[in-house]
Amino acid sequence: MGVLKYTEDHERFRLQVREYMEKEVLPHTMEWEEAHIVPKEAWRKMGEAGYLCPCVSKEYGGPGLDFLYSVIITEEMAAVGQAGLAAMLHSDIVVPYINTYGTEEQKKKYLPGCVSGAIITAVAMTEPGAGSDVGGLEATAEEDGDEIVINGVKTFISNGINCDLVVLAARNPEIADKHAGVSLYLVEDGTPGFTRGKHLDKMGMHSQDTAELFFSNCRIPKENILGQKGHGFLMLMEKLQQERLMSAIANVAGAETALKWAVAYAKEAIVDGKPLSKSQAVKFKLAEMATDINLNRAFLDNLINDHMAGKDVTAQTMMSKYASSEMMNLQISDIMDLFGEYGLLESSPVARGFRDQRITTIFAGTTEIMKTIIAKSLGL
Ligand SMILES: Cc1cc2nc3c(=O)[nH]c(=O)nc-3n(C[C@H](O)[C@H](O)[C@H](O)COP(=O)(O)OP(=O)(O)OC[C@H]3O[C@@H](n4cnc5c(N)ncnc54)[C@H](O)[C@@H]3O)c2cc1C
Repeated sequence: MGVLKYTEDHERFRLQVREYMEKEVLPHTMEWEEAHIVPKEAWRKMGEAGYLCPCVSKEYGGPGLDFLYSVIITEEMAAVGQAGLAAMLHSDIVVPYINTYGTEEQKKKYLPGCVSGAIITAVAMTEPGAGSDVGGLEATAEEDGDEIVINGVKTFISNGINCDLVVLAARNPEIADKHAGVSLYLVEDGTPGFTRGKHLDKMGMHSQDTAELFFSNCRIPKENILGQKGHGFLMLMEKLQQERLMSAIANVAGAETALKWAVAYAKEAIVDGKPLSKSQAVKFKLAEMATDINLNRAFLDNLINDHMAGKDVTAQTMMSKYASSEMMNLQISDIMDLFGEYGLLESSPVARGFRDQRITTIFAGTTEIMKTIIAKSLGL
C-alpha cells in the first residue's frame, strides 16, 4: 500500500473522473488545441459533474472533500494530457486564495460560482518586467474614496481570456517597501477599465488561453481587497507551496502516462524483425525512466501527506517541482527518439507532450528559482 491513504470512496471517485475524462474531455482535445481555448461550456460541465473545487466546503456550495480528491482530479487530467481545461489552476491554486483570505461576503458571492463552473478564475502576478521577482511588480492600486483605482499590465495569465474573476497582485504606491507594498484584489470581468490584450500564441499547451490583461483607471469597490492591505506578498508566498505541489503532481502523473506509451510502443514496434523492447538499450532506457519516476513518486506522495498535515514543506516542494519537471523533459525527449518519426506526428501524443512539457520548468516558478529557495533552506 502506498503512503497516501486512499479510501474506497477515493478509488470510486478516481474511476468516475477517469470515465469523465475519456468521454467528455479526451474526444475534444484536438478541437480545443486548434481553437487555442476551451469553451466555457466545458468548464460548466466539469462543475456540474462535481470536479471543480472539491475542497470548498458545503457552506459555500462545494462538496467539502479532502485534498486527495484534488490530487485525483489533477492526476487523471494529466493522464489525458489536458492542459487547457485548467481545473487544477482554478480549483487548487486560485480559488484557495478566496477560500482562505476572503471575507464571508466574498466567499458567499464567489465560491458557489467557482464550484459550478459559472465563474472561471485567474491569478495575475506576472508583468512584462516582473516574472520571477514578484516583488518587482509595478501595477498600482490607489485608494480614492470608497474605490480602488488599478493601473497596470499583466502578462502570461492562464485562463486570461476565459476568466470571470481575477485575483490581482498590485502595488500600493504609498508604501515604499517592495514587499510590504503589495496587496491582492478581486477584479470581475466587465469592470470598466479591465480589458484583455493579446491571446498569447505559445509553443505548447495550445488549448490553454494565456493572455495579457490591461487595467486602465479600473475602479473596483474598496471591499474587493482580498486579505489585509500590504499582505499580498506574504499570501502569494504562502499559496505558492500548493501551486508548486500541484505542478509536481501533474508532472509525475504525466510522466507515468508517457512511460506507458513508451512501453506499449516498444512492445509493438518491429525493428530488424523483432520488437524494439527486445533491445537491451531500449529496456535499460525504459528501466531508467521507471526508476526516476518511482523515486519522484515516492518523494511526492510523502510530500502530499506532509502538506495535508499542514507542515511547512517549502524546500521539499521546490525539490519536487524542479526534479519532476526536469525529469519529464528528459524523459519525453527520449520517448520522442524511441518513437522515431511517428513521435513527430501531430496525431501522436508524444508531439504534444513534448511541446507541453517544455513549459513546466518555467511556469509556477522556474527551475533556477526552485534551486534558489532550496539553497536558502541549506543556509546558503
Ligand atoms: C504557460 C504559462 C502560464 C503562466 N501562467 C501564469 C499565471 O496564470 N499567472 C501569473 O502571474 N504568471 C503566469 N506565468 C508566468 C510565470 O510565472 C513566469 O514565466 C515565471 O515566474 C518566470 O518568470 P519570467 O518568465 O518573467 O522569467 P524571468 O524572471 O525573466 O527569468 C528569466 C531567466 O532568469 C532566471 N532567473 C530569474 N531570477 C533569477 C535568480 N534570482 N537567480 C537565478 N536565475 C534567475 C530564470 O530562471 C529564467 O531562466 C505563466 C507563464 C507561462 C509560460
